[in-house]
Amino acid sequence: MKPQEKAEDSFLGLYCHVPFCPHRCAYCAFYHEPPKREWIDRYLDGIQKEVASITVHSLPKTIFFGGGTPGILSTKDFQSLSSSILSLSDGHKSLGTNRPVEWTVEMAPSTVKEDKLLLMKELGITRISLGIQSFNPHTLNTLGRRHSAKQALLAYELIREFAFDVNIDLMFAIPSQTLESWSSDLQKAIEIQPDHISTYCFTHEENTPFDLKLSPDKSLSKEESDLLFYEKTWDYLPENGFIHYEISNFARPGKQCLHNLNTWDMGEWIGIGPAAASQYNQTRYNNPASIEKWYESLSHQTPFENITPLTPESLATDALMFGLRKIQGVNLDSLSSRYAIDLRKKYAPLLHSLSENKLLIQEGPHIRLSRPGLLLSDSIALDFLE
Ligand code: SF4
Repeated sequence: MKPQEKAEDSFLGLYCHVPFCPHRCAYCAFYHEPPKREWIDRYLDGIQKEVASITVHSLPKTIFFGGGTPGILSTKDFQSLSSSILSLSDGHKSLGTNRPVEWTVEMAPSTVKEDKLLLMKELGITRISLGIQSFNPHTLNTLGRRHSAKQALLAYELIREFAFDVNIDLMFAIPSQTLESWSSDLQKAIEIQPDHISTYCFTHEENTPFDLKLSPDKSLSKEESDLLFYEKTWDYLPENGFIHYEISNFARPGKQCLHNLNTWDMGEWIGIGPAAASQYNQTRYNNPASIEKWYESLSHQTPFENITPLTPESLATDALMFGLRKIQGVNLDSLSSRYAIDLRKKYAPLLHSLSENKLLIQEGPHIRLSRPGLLLSDSIALDFLE
């Protein structure tokens, strides 16, 4: 049997990394740069060169501008970036004449301005992901975020006036944040009715200013404390009309993020810009995480790093691991025929042990993690890799 290698509904997505941030958030360990004019010019020139060097086998169905802070670009720079991306071609057609069905841009509340939103609307952007993190001034201050709750709400209202779909990012289990304060954040989120809510558990990154500034609450272990926040979130948002469709993600009906679903389903995506990762043509690779190295690499024949060929076997394991992050789980028979690998047989002892321990629920060919299983999803994923 020949593997299908792609799910029936998987497609090509495009991720563009915009690595500029006005300042460093205290907890952030991601690669980003201050928005110096010289670097922005080099970045925009590099994006144009990178896109011109690629001919894709099919046009991306989704685009995601992430960062960094994509919204920090001026309207002129944003127009230039978008024009380069829209020139991407499959050899016959370009994205400019065949717009994606979903195009998301991450914005920090302080970067939301009317002229930018107007341009984004004209470009065909469909969805804004707003990095609110919290509505609580103390929590925002703890995180080192520069916006106020009022600024976040005004930004949200302005985005809504332009009729974009909106995701809001919220963060929980932040040192000094109480469960009551998190409950208020969730209530506020329900009040403003976004289309989508992404909830992230604060993780204590090493070697960040945050690491030095704060120590976690000692009365509970981090795991015990996180559990209370997870339980609250997983109960409250579905009770208020949001579908819990992935460990961290909730959506109103029909508003799930297609771009992210495609990555969890092991579809294909190409990454443009420094530090962007790709999974394309049975290979996983990433661009150098430095504007200078990335720009310089564009003149090489193979500008990528960490090039990993993907086999049906490795893709099947990843599709299983990432598919189990989705609340509905996966259909083992479909995955087995997609990759021509008998996954039931390959993982029989592990699936049996997870079921015995009530971490996994099996209903015919469908498997999904139970709530205790979802809480242990990272370690369960590692079990599939062993
Ligand atoms: S805006 Fe995002 S990427 Fe930039 S420093 Fe803050 S957390 Fe990191």
